[in-house]
Amino acid sequence: MRGPARPPGDRRPRRTLRAARRGAAPAARAPPPLDIEIERTGVRGSLKTGGEARGRRTRSTRRRQDAPDLPRRPVDSRTVGKVFRGRDGKTFRPSLFLTLTLDSYGRVRSDGTPVDPATYDYTRAARDALHFSKLVDRFVQNLRRFVGYDVQYFATVEPQRRLAPHLHMAIRGTISRTELRQVVAATYHQVWWPSTDRVVYSGNRLPVWDEAAGENGGYLDPETGEVLPTWDDALDAIGLDENAEPLHVVRFGRQIDAQGVLADSADSRRCIGYLTKYLVKGVAECHEAETAAQREHVDRMAEALRFEPCSPTCANWLRYGVQPKNARRGMTPGFCKGKAHRREHLGYGGRRVLVSRKWSGKTLADHKADRKAWALARLAEAGIPVSNPADPQAAYVWERAGPGDPDVRPTEHRLLLLINERIQRRRQLDAATQNTTSELSATAEAA
Ligand SMILES: [Zn+2]
Repeated sequence: MRGPARPPGDRRPRRTLRAARRGAAPAARAPPPLDIEIERTGVRGSLKTGGEARGRRTRSTRRRQDAPDLPRRPVDSRTVGKVFRGRDGKTFRPSLFLTLTLDSYGRVRSDGTPVDPATYDYTRAARDALHFSKLVDRFVQNLRRFVGYDVQYFATVEPQRRLAPHLHMAIRGTISRTELRQVVAATYHQVWWPSTDRVVYSGNRLPVWDEAAGENGGYLDPETGEVLPTWDDALDAIGLDENAEPLHVVRFGRQIDAQGVLADSADSRRCIGYLTKYLVKGVAECHEAETAAQREHVDRMAEALRFEPCSPTCANWLRYGVQPKNARRGMTPGFCKGKAHRREHLGYGGRRVLVSRKWSGKTLADHKADRKAWALARLAEAGIPVSNPADPQAAYVWERAGPGDPDVRPTEHRLLLLINERIQRRRQLDAATQNTTSELSATAEAA
C-alpha cells in the first residue's frame, strides 16, 4: 500500500482515511476451495474465484409498466425484406426512409425557439440528447427482433431547429407503418445512474483529491475527510435498492415519418439528399442562431448541459457527491471536457453517421479498392498523370532493406518524403474534383 504523504497541517481524521483504505482493499478472506486445490498442485497465483472477483452487477431489466410488450421472433440471417411481384411479373423490393424525433419539451415557434422559455423542459431535452444514441441502438435491436431479420440501415443524426437530435434512417426492405409504430412505442432506454436530484458540492466547496484514498487515490468531503462513494459503490447501492428509479428514461416522440422508396427513383435521390445534407457540418452549424431568441435558446440548452453528467467518467458526478468512474486529480464539476457538453454538440456526443455492418455487403478492402478506383478515375478525367511527384519516372520494386544498406535514408528523411507525397496527391485530387480541403484545419474533428 502506498504511504500516505500527509502535510503537517492536515487535520483530517485518520480513522476516515484508514477506513477508506480498508474499504478499497478488503481484509483477507479465506481463499475459496478451488484456489486451495490449485495451490496444492503447486501452481501459484489465484483464479479469483471467490470474493475478490467482483460479481457482475445485476441491474433491473424489468420493463416499465407503460411500455407495451413487443412480440419477439427469431432473427434470420437474411438482410433483405419482402420481394413484391407486379402485374407484369416484374419484381421489386421497396426500401424505407424513416425519420424519428424526440418528444416535445414545450411548444416551439417555427424558428425553433420555445413559446415559453420558462416552462420549456431544458433538463429533459438535455438528458434526451445525451442518451439519444443508446435509444437508437435499442430501436435497431427491437426492430430486428420484431421483424425477424437482420435489418440493414444507413442513418444520420441531425439536430432539428429546436436543437433536439433526430434520426434519418434508410432501411433495406419494407416494414409497415403499424409495425414501426409498435416498435417505436415499445422502445426506450433507462439510464441507471446515481440520482442528481441533490446538489452536494458547488461553488468553492468542492471535494478534495487525496492520493491515499482508495486504491489509486480518490475524492474526500472537504470538511469531514470522508471518502465519497465511488462509481461502483453508487451503482451497487442502486442495484440493492428495490425502489430505485432510473435517473432518466429516454424514448422517441410519437411523430413518425416513414416512406416506402424504390431504388434509383426521384424519391430515393431526394432521401439520399436528406441523409447527406448535414453530414459535412457540425451539429451547431446545421441551424446557425441568427436571432436573439435563437441565441438565447442555445445558451439555455448549453447551460442545462453544463452540470448534467455526460458519462460515468464525467467530472460533474462530484457535484452530486459521487466519485466519477476512473476518478483522477483535477476534476471540477462544470468543466468536463466531454464532447456532449460543448456548444457545438449540444448534448449529442455520439456518432453522426450510423451504418449497419452488412449495409454495403462489402469488406474494408472492397471499400479501399472502391476509393482508389474513384480517385484514379477523377485524376484521369482531369488529365492529371498519376505518378510519384518526387520521382516521376519511378517504378518501385519492393525488397526488404536493412539498416546497413547505403541507400536507405534516415527515418526523418523518409517520413518527410512520405508526407510530401501525401500532400501532392491530396492537391492533385483536390484539383481534379475542385475541392478546397486544404483550407480545413488539421485539428477539426470528423463529423
Ligand atoms: Zn461530462
